[in-house]
Amino acid sequence: MPQKMLKFVDVPRGMPEKRAAEARRGDFDEIYREYAAAKAEEQSSRCSQCGVPYCQTHCPLHNNIPDWLKLTAEGRLEEAYAVSQATNTFPEICGRICPQDRLCEGNCVIEQSGHGTVTIGAVEKYITDTAWEEGWVKPAAPRVERPESVGIIGAGPGGLAAADMLRRRGFQVTVYDRYDRAGGLMIYGIPGFKLEKDVVMRRNKLLEDGGVTFELGKDIGVDIAFQELREKHDAILIATGVYKSRDLGGPGAGLPGILKALDYLTASNKTGFGDTVAEFESGELNANGKKVVVIGGGDTAMDCVRTAIRQGASSVKCLYRRDRANMPGSQREVANAEEEGVEFVWLSAPKGFVGDDRANGVRVAKMRLGAPDVTGRQTPEEIEGADYTEPADIIIKALGFDPEDLPKLWDVEGLDVTRWGTIKTDHRTHETALDGVFAAGDIVRGASLVVWAIRDGREAADAIAAKLDARASVVAAE
Ligand code: FAD
Ligand code: SF4
Ligand code: SF4
Repeated sequence: MPQKMLKFVDVPRGMPEKRAAEARRGDFDEIYREYAAAKAEEQSSRCSQCGVPYCQTHCPLHNNIPDWLKLTAEGRLEEAYAVSQATNTFPEICGRICPQDRLCEGNCVIEQSGHGTVTIGAVEKYITDTAWEEGWVKPAAPRVERPESVGIIGAGPGGLAAADMLRRRGFQVTVYDRYDRAGGLMIYGIPGFKLEKDVVMRRNKLLEDGGVTFELGKDIGVDIAFQELREKHDAILIATGVYKSRDLGGPGAGLPGILKALDYLTASNKTGFGDTVAEFESGELNANGKKVVVIGGGDTAMDCVRTAIRQGASSVKCLYRRDRANMPGSQREVANAEEEGVEFVWLSAPKGFVGDDRANGVRVAKMRLGAPDVTGRQTPEEIEGADYTEPADIIIKALGFDPEDLPKLWDVEGLDVTRWGTIKTDHRTHETALDGVFAAGDIVRGASLVVWAIRDGREAADAIAAKLDARASVVAAE
């Protein structure tokens, strides 16, 4: 067979076609089209098959990237899918929404040599989307049914990854979530233009088809006591994410018209499903025809500005206190937002809000970047006398999230938390201070990424299985 790989010198990097910004502004569909088969093969063939693949090292799941690129380049897609799904529960989701520039692709050696990274994420998405089309993605079919049951609190990527792994081993798995749909932030946080909802819903159905039970609309600590779950199940996994929005003070901070990012995004995602959301209908959580100001520079802020564009806002501005080079959000998302018509107002920090019975503007302090702090990032300093008012009909706060106080909310003693309020676990086993209670995802790490939640969920599932196996062998020996 002729050499298929190492084509990066002759073949330029090519992402799947991106829809024109004008068309994107009008809907919530994903912005990238799928690769055609020939294009996926061509792009995979650019990989130099490194002996020490830094792409793999920097993928939180340590995906076997060089192998599935080679198999794709050779047109052996079913095998590529088998390799890809062996380490990743949701490859087509990671392919869509991982910040690849900071993870696998950002560490690809041909990028370092100036040839443009292999488009790893786009190929990963292509492989598994094809697997779905071809019917290669199968529900769990455990060889033996185990009597032990595991209760998982939280149907985000962490909880679902664990549910999948445990069910495939034959355990009885029930996933509880306070929302009416499973998927966590993949359903109600991340907008459809990054991750179309049917991609997540088909995964939920696959889990159900494999025998995972979902108890949706059940808020643990309110509808069901945590202690009741502990008595019902042989092990518990807490995968509840982080949902306490960081807030802003200052004059006018409590005025109507100042929204929390997640309330705004959840309402938008629910209406995308055809649900009626009263606060969207009333205009409270709808940017249509309005001047929108979003405060923050992370990925949540990027999702808010781009959602507002799609809802038909008359203008959308993003205020961030540092400059473009120092913002935490992905540069790719900033570029997408700019193309779609978002204006970034760099070096601008909110000092308060103006308005009588409703906020109609943000009082903005202009900043300059001072000396670097301990992390090396330059600290923003206020420029005296340069304040101004930015007019707005809707102001969205997108400043990040902290964990809720679970021990208090759930009235549970002995569930240790860190000084940031995240749950303390043994880093190897993910077990908490309570015997048989494990935790994974954002509730342990703080606000993070889907791919890290998947990794934690998979590792926690291994540890839960090991614990239940050990208990079973003790019982068998007695
Ligand atoms: P979650 O996804 O938050 O799921 C937790 C689940 O637990 C939820 O369904 C919640 O309803 C449920 N729950 C909580 N408390 C209870 C309770 N008491 N009883 C019952 N159920 C409960 N990451 C990326 O990798 N790429 C991105 O592009 C990206 N974009 C993002 C955009 C936004 C707007 C946000 C907010 C986050 C984004 N993230 C992104 C981060 C990513 O979504 C999270 O890191 C990931 O979803 C965490 O997974 P998890 O399973 O820990 O928690
Ligand atoms: Fe890259 Fe994310 Fe896929 Fe890993 S899971 S290979 S980091 S896109
Ligand atoms: Fe291929 Fe890049 Fe990974 Fe090397 S680092 S194996 S070139 S994808």
